[in-house]
Amino acid sequence: MSYAQALMVDDDPVFRALAEDMVLDAGVQAVETADNGLEALAKLDAGYAPDILICDLNMPAHDGVSLIRSLADRRFPGRVLIISGEEPSVIETVAKLARIQGLNIIGSIRKPLTPEALEAVFARSAPAPKKAELAPAQPSLLDAAINRGGLHPFFQAKVSMATGAITGAEALARIAVTATEFANPVPYVELAERNNRIDDLTLALTHAVARHAKSFFSAGKPLPVSINISPVSLQRRDFPDILAEAVQAAGLPCSQVTLEVTETRFVEYGPDALEVMSRMRIKGFGLSVDDFGTGYSNIDRLQMYPFTELKIDQSFTRGVLTDAFARACVETSVRLAKELGLKIVAEGVETVEMWNYLANLGIDEAQGYLMAKPMPSGEFLKLLERGVVVPSAVALRA
Ligand code: C2E
Ligand code: CA
Ligand code: CA
Repeated sequence: MSYAQALMVDDDPVFRALAEDMVLDAGVQAVETADNGLEALAKLDAGYAPDILICDLNMPAHDGVSLIRSLADRRFPGRVLIISGEEPSVIETVAKLARIQGLNIIGSIRKPLTPEALEAVFARSAPAPKKAELAPAQPSLLDAAINRGGLHPFFQAKVSMATGAITGAEALARIAVTATEFANPVPYVELAERNNRIDDLTLALTHAVARHAKSFFSAGKPLPVSINISPVSLQRRDFPDILAEAVQAAGLPCSQVTLEVTETRFVEYGPDALEVMSRMRIKGFGLSVDDFGTGYSNIDRLQMYPFTELKIDQSFTRGVLTDAFARACVETSVRLAKELGLKIVAEGVETVEMWNYLANLGIDEAQGYLMAKPMPSGEFLKLLERGVVVPSAVALRA
């Protein structure tokens, strides 16, 4: 798990040499350096596209704050890491400023830099190798998934941190490869997005989910289910109508379904998306902001959309015990969610320690391997009957 190209901007040649070694040791494949902000911008303008830019704040020519503004103006798509000798409060303010300006800032480290600090930030933020390792999508299987029943929803429990009861399920698409073998959805979702077939994929999945969800009950009540929606579909104005028809055709009310939209691609959502999301809510669907923290999150933007739920991304859940920046992000997200009256869900809860920490913060629901993996509907029905096994060390929220 690491970055391919890093650009390091620092006026101190000794620090640059030291840090360059640490960055390479941390697994980055290649490092370029620049003396100051102007030199860095010249490299970017010449076409150099690092996936991470590491910058100092105090530099004689075009300092870090100016560089951050210039990066935001250019809509720099990579990640940004600040490493500086300034007071922590100054570094934090600049980091916040960068975030508000729409940069994908992954952390800030106070000098002296240590390999441990660098590795912690990289471990949390570096692009997962998962995607690259996934087998590429086969167009014939995508066809079969959409048109010939080769698409299967798996269900993963969402569990109340107050009671330990199953309070919902997320449907995750699986693509049939053979009668017993399923493929991960990510390459297929991407292929469908490229080929203009994503709406068909979503609808096929929605039909299947609605059929299954009719038999899902928890404590005698119909169980809410969540479905993932591609941002591409938000460009289509009639999408809420089509989706509502698909859900109601199976006899399920829209109010039992929450639509998850990933935050990573917020910047792509135009005014049409706002209209489409509003109409989804009017139809009765819940609306969740998925992967929160990975994108260009800023409070103003979040307030604009009619969300009902906020899902904290796994990378933050994972970092919560070891990484101060991840912890600060999670705590801010909880405050924000409470202020906006949103339900808050933590994804990727894998250990009792994570559960305890998150439960104490006041997170409403948890989803993760600690409680249950995604599973076919038959198994999920049995899980609903017996409930999740919550280890005795797990603290229920007061
Ligand atoms: P996502 O919406 O963030 O879904 C959560 C992913 O985290 C799922 O991966 C789930 O299996 C995994 N997960 C859950 N708990 C844990 C945990 O404790 N630890 C770890 N390491 N992972 C956990 P999955 O099923 O591979 O799905 C990947 C992504 O594919 C989803 O991420 C979602 O963005 C997309 N996707 C899945 N189904 C659909 C769909 O029907 N439509 C669209 N548009 N996208 C979908
Ligand atoms: Ca999701
Ligand atoms: Ca997610």
